[in-house]
Amino acid sequence: MHRTYRYRLYPTRRQREALESQLRFACSLYNAALEQRRDAYRRLGKSLGYGDQSAELTELRRSAPELCPPEGMNYWSAQEVLRRLDRAFGAFFHRLRRGEKPGYPRFRSHRRFNTLAWTQKGNAGGVEVTEQGRLRLQGIGCVKVKWHRPIPAEATLGEVRVTRKETGARARYHVSVTAKLPIPEPRPGTGAAVGIDMGVRRLVSLSTGELVCGPRAGRANAKRLRRGSRKLARRKRGSARRAKAAAQLARHREREANRRRDAAHKLSRTLVERFDLIAVERLRVANMVRSASGTLAAPGANVAQKRALNREIADQGWGQLLSYLAYKAEEAGRRVVAVEPADTSRTCCGCGAVDARSRAGPRFRCLACGHAEDADVNAAKVILARARAREGIERPGRGRQAATAALAAVV
Ligand SMILES: [Zn+2]
Repeated sequence: MHRTYRYRLYPTRRQREALESQLRFACSLYNAALEQRRDAYRRLGKSLGYGDQSAELTELRRSAPELCPPEGMNYWSAQEVLRRLDRAFGAFFHRLRRGEKPGYPRFRSHRRFNTLAWTQKGNAGGVEVTEQGRLRLQGIGCVKVKWHRPIPAEATLGEVRVTRKETGARARYHVSVTAKLPIPEPRPGTGAAVGIDMGVRRLVSLSTGELVCGPRAGRANAKRLRRGSRKLARRKRGSARRAKAAAQLARHREREANRRRDAAHKLSRTLVERFDLIAVERLRVANMVRSASGTLAAPGANVAQKRALNREIADQGWGQLLSYLAYKAEEAGRRVVAVEPADTSRTCCGCGAVDARSRAGPRFRCLACGHAEDADVNAAKVILARARAREGIERPGRGRQAATAALAAVV
């Protein structure tokens, strides 16, 4: 089982300089490798892969002095830059094969090249936690970390990625540590199950009737963000005032993301504590969000509407919530079941009749049996019923005992 932990780093001035110089090198290496691939293909019709480029890394150092890695830089870290490029090409070709129109991998600017990686896997060395609780990064030194949440002692560290936020004097650094953990003992069952409808009006509605609004940080912040980006656009390129505006805007974005992450963690933890079986809709978040650019908008869809909906989807961070839910459930030995979302909002949870006319705005009123309820809660119940059906459980009869017994049979 893998988990990722994220912490703030506090490098000294000298460590910061070392980080900057490794980042500069990594960016140049990335661009040089990209150029090499492009030229090899254009001139020779030859496709270079990671293997070729990794083998050439040593050679490249000799032939291009500006590409000399800074002193003490870990070799794996340099190779990792080539792997990153390889992944970019992999994604590019994958999307080509699927008939999409991806952009060719791009050259990166030093200002936007923000990540370096180390690993503890194998004997690549490069990183360790010292007895003093510092993070020793090869070529950087022992960096102070704010361990606001301890990594369990039984964890094996894997990849360690250091990311820079903003450049220059305002630069802040974070580290994310991937750790492998032993599979924990499952928690005692609660006998309870829940269906979750992820909505636009609210973050989620539960089949228990509970309604949870997200932080809505996006909407509350949208005005500030719009104003911030206008301000940025007005200011002269390269000016100090522009840099300041850019930093302000970035800070707003970061706070927004923090609030959203925090809310997703809390909600997913609560759900996992309370329920054994958690039923969700299978969402195609990536596709839906991508169509915001118009490339994948469904035929006949009103583009403005689509865009608004997509914005909400990204805003609500469903994907984030689902991924937190998945790993927390795994840790606790709970099950998350994803069901097909078709017609969930048009199906009656009482009698199973499907009729679009049963749905009237925020209310659901079944035309077949008269069942009336909040539309999203009804959908959540439908989702739970589908999950149970898929799990091979009979639809539980009335009464709590039947439901518990049915659930206990599979838990
Ligand atoms: Zn009905």
